[in-house]
Amino acid sequence: MDCLFCKIAAKEIPAKIVHEDEELVAFEDISPQAPVHILVIPRQHISRLNDLQPEHDELVGKIIRLAKKLAKERDIDQAGYRVVMNCNEQAGQSVFHIHLHLLGGRAMQWPPG
Ligand code: 5GP
Ligand code: ZN
Repeated sequence: MDCLFCKIAAKEIPAKIVHEDEELVAFEDISPQAPVHILVIPRQHISRLNDLQPEHDELVGKIIRLAKKLAKERDIDQAGYRVVMNCNEQAGQSVFHIHLHLLGGRAMQWPPG
């Protein structure tokens, strides 16, 4: 599979990994948009949110709960943080392996642009 995030999960491409387990990997975004900018991905290749099926419900729950845990570890949980999942080009998805952005450590704007 010629996928950047599959290769990061397999450690074929280096990344600053901050968490890994059987199903998930979390690593620092290479181009951080906030003091905390971590990407959480499933090891399983799923290209985009549009491809999610009922069998992925547990996995998606784990992705969000890992984001919550990392937010606490980085001490941004009380001030606040944002999680973002972009789907397809108009939303800004550039890597087609689903990922959750955990952003925090600064004030966020709304609407997000
Ligand atoms: P998207 O635009 O698809 O929602 O998010 C993709 C994210 O992956 C971007 O924030 C981008 O900075 C990050 N990214 C792209 N290539 C790499 C890489 O090789 N390593 C890491 N750590 N992050 C990457
Ligand atoms: Zn992939």
